Parts: sequence; structure tokens; C-alpha cells
Amino acid sequence: MQNTSFRQEAYINGAWETSTKTFPVTNPASGQVLAQVPDLGTEAFEKAVQAAQAAFKPWAALLPKERGAYLKKWSALIAENAESLAQLLTSEQGKPIEESRNEVNGAAGTVEWFAEEARRNYGEIVPPPRENLRLEVQYVPLGVVAAITPWNFPVSMVTRKVAPAIAAGCTVVLKPSEETPLCALALASLAEKAGIPKGVVNVVTAGAAGAAAFGQLMCSHTLVRKISFTGSTAVGRILMQQAGAQIKKVGLELGGNAPFIIFASADLEKAVEGLIANKFRNAGQTCICANRIFVEKGAEGKIIKLLEEKLKEANIGPLINKEAKEKVEELLADSQKHGAKAVTVSRNNGEGLYCNPVILTGVPVQARIFREEIFGPVAPIYSFESEDEVIVAANDTEYGLAAYIYSGDLAQGQRIMAGLDYGMVGFNQVPLAYEGVPFGGMKQSGIGREGGHWGMKEFMEIKYLAIETR
Ligand code: ADP
Repeated sequence: MQNTSFRQEAYINGAWETSTKTFPVTNPASGQVLAQVPDLGTEAFEKAVQAAQAAFKPWAALLPKERGAYLKKWSALIAENAESLAQLLTSEQGKPIEESRNEVNGAAGTVEWFAEEARRNYGEIVPPPRENLRLEVQYVPLGVVAAITPWNFPVSMVTRKVAPAIAAGCTVVLKPSEETPLCALALASLAEKAGIPKGVVNVVTAGAAGAAAFGQLMCSHTLVRKISFTGSTAVGRILMQQAGAQIKKVGLELGGNAPFIIFASADLEKAVEGLIANKFRNAGQTCICANRIFVEKGAEGKIIKLLEEKLKEANIGPLINKEAKEKVEELLADSQKHGAKAVTVSRNNGEGLYCNPVILTGVPVQARIFREEIFGPVAPIYSFESEDEVIVAANDTEYGLAAYIYSGDLAQGQRIMAGLDYGMVGFNQVPLAYEGVPFGGMKQSGIGREGGHWGMKEFMEIKYLAIETR
């Protein structure tokens, strides 16, 4: 493979490590094997934790602007290598190249943002209750952070965790998804080129069985001070239970079941464009993509017609693997068994891991698809008649990540926004993830936020000092 960002070794304590045991990384669009990556186990994970611990004190002792300078270099290198990173991302993950370019540019922006934020780690002084007393609040880095990332955003999920963690003064042991480790390794290689000292960023790789072993070791390791995880709610629950034994801090970005609410008063054309950009991005494999589309009675016909028309033009990649495609087919079959009607927009004949987009109507709420994350290009439409009804239906889920509203009436939008139990709400537009905002969910969608100053504080402890000044 010619890609200049390509690495197929793990990165531990500033050294590139191979292993006799490997697992393959394949291109979901073609099935071609792209790389054989080390299938590491406990010994290598332990080595990475020790390296991160050894690097922690000197890294945390740097001036914030010195840490920021390393991050700036890393960001500049990501930007310089954006095209090769985007190509690598598309080849191991399958999303269309324009989406990969956006993701890589966003990641460079995130690293740059936290490079700057390193210097703005202000403390606070609390007014004292008596004379000669100073009450000081500092924010200090946690220590070694274990990060576990998913395959749907193999670049941005890494930078969203690693950049704030190391800007705060922490060090990191990262295990990327076994489906997409190449982007994480490429980012580690750029971190090395940026001169980030050895042990500050470690990337270990492991296959599916090793993933559970990694989680177990990190949760039970006394040197690991936080588990930062993005992935399914099922795995998040396991990690939280395991972390409980040591009251270890967890940051969890989990599943979603996003409502996408369209009122008849909305600009329907714009609503459908937003819906396609949101629902079909990454072939529907994002935790913030519309999972339940609520359309006000009377507007359904126009929405479905527009959706069918515009979907013919949409660029949709393959799903990540066979299990993902089977899950989508299973949800579709279950909906149809419950009486839903499916309109398939034929574009790619559904070959290999590709799925033709499907619009579902007449789905009863008893169907699994109302409760479960679809993670595929299927758009179930539900109709509603009143504001109260749609708020209740939208909140009728264990999740609370992202929600979207399209309405021609701002006051109505505000009433709905106030009623939704979601961490993030888009009104008359869909993008939500920017480096400066708090990304995260309520209820079983997770704990904590990533991005912005909130995202950096997640990697810091509060230390309070009561000082006699006499
Ligand atoms: P998805 O459904 O998006 O694949 P997963 O939650 O299965 O999400 O995977 C997200 C990340 O969690 C991946 O890096 C995967 O290797 C890892 N993982 C899977 N199972 C476990 C586990 N039991 N403990 C720790 N990490 C795990």
C-alpha cells in the first residue's frame, strides 16, 4: 500500500511494535485486506500503561503553552497530511471520500482548539468566610487515561479524546476499534513527528477478543485514572460496571435514538435536505443520526416524495461489516412483520456490504426499530398531530443524545426544544459536532461531554486549597 500515512504496527512508549499474532483490516467496499495489525494482549497493554505513567509527571509539568505548541504541530501535520489520511479513512471505513475529508479537517481543528485551550485552564478563588484565609480552586490533570474508540469516526473520535486529554496534561493509552485501527496509527505517527514525547500517546491494537481484555485491565488497573469510551451502550454498561470496583472515572459517549421532528409549517425542502445529510451520512452509522422521523400529519406525502427524489442523488457508502448489514435487514424484516411498508430507493442493488436506502411508513411503536439504533440507511416515518404528543413520543426512549426539529415557527421550536430530554438539539439545521461545543447525551446515551472547555475539564480533577495567609 502506497499511502504515506499507513502504519501497521502498534505505538508504545515511542516505539513501533509488531507481533507474531495479527488480525486483518479489510476495506468494507471491496473486501480487500489492507493490513495485518498486531493482535496484542495483556502484556503489551501493561507496558503501555507503564509508559504512560512514566511520561505523565514530566508532561504535566510542562507549561501549558509548551504542551499547546506540541498540539499545534500535531494539528498542522494532520492538516498537511489531510488527503492521505482521508484516503486511508475511506479505505478502512467505507465512507465517501468527501465525508472523510470533512472528518480529517474537523480533527485538525479539534487538535488546534485544544492546543489553545491548554493555556486557558483558569482556576478560581472563592470568597473566604473569615479574614486571612484564601480559598483556591485548581484544575489538575488526572493522570493516565485509557481511551477506547469506535469504527464509525476513526479519526475524529481519536482526536476528540486524545487532544483534550494531553492538553490537560494527561497521558493516554488508546485502543481503536479492531475494524479501523489504521487511522489511529496514522495519527500516532503524526504525533511522533510532532515531537510529542514518548509515552504521552500510546496506541495499542487488538482483535475482538483482546478488546474485552483491554477494557478489563484498564478498569482494574490502579494507575489508570479514567476510562474514556465511545461505542455501544451495551459495552459502556460493561465498562461502567467494571470501573465501579475502583470508583474509576468514566466518560461515556454511547448510543442514540434521535427523533427528527418535522412540522408542516417548516420549509419541507430544507427539512428533507437536512434529513438526508443527517440520516444517510456515513450510511446511517452515526449515534446522532435520525432514528425516528416524526412528521406532522398532512405533510407526510410531500416529505416522502421529496425524500425519494433526493435520495437518488445521495452518495452512500457500504456498511462496516456483515453483522451490521444483517442487523439492518433484521430490523427491516421485524418492521414489515409489524405491518410497516417499505419503499426501497434502488441505487446500488445492495451488493456486498452496500445497502439500498429504505423509507418505512406505517411503523407501529411496538416494532424493534422504534427502540433500537438502526445504524443503517433506513428512514422510519411516524406521523403525529400535536406538540404534546410528539414531545412524549420523542422522549419515549432510554436514550437522550441528539434531536432535531424543523418548524417555520420559532416559538413552537422553542417549546419543543424545552420539552426534549436530549443533550443536543438542532433547530432548522443539522450539524451539531463542533470543537467548541459540549457533545454528549442524557439518560443511557452517556456520561460527561466531549469538546469545548467542558471536554477538557473531563480530564482534570478539582483540587481545592485552604490557605492561612497570616
Ligand atoms: P459498535 O457497536 O459501534 O461496534 P462497540 O461498543 O462494540 O461499538 O465497540 C466500540 C469499541 O469498544 C471498539 O473499540 C471495541 O473494540 C471496543 N469493545 C468491544 N467490546 C468491549 C469490551 N467488552 N470491553 C472493552 N471494549 C470493548
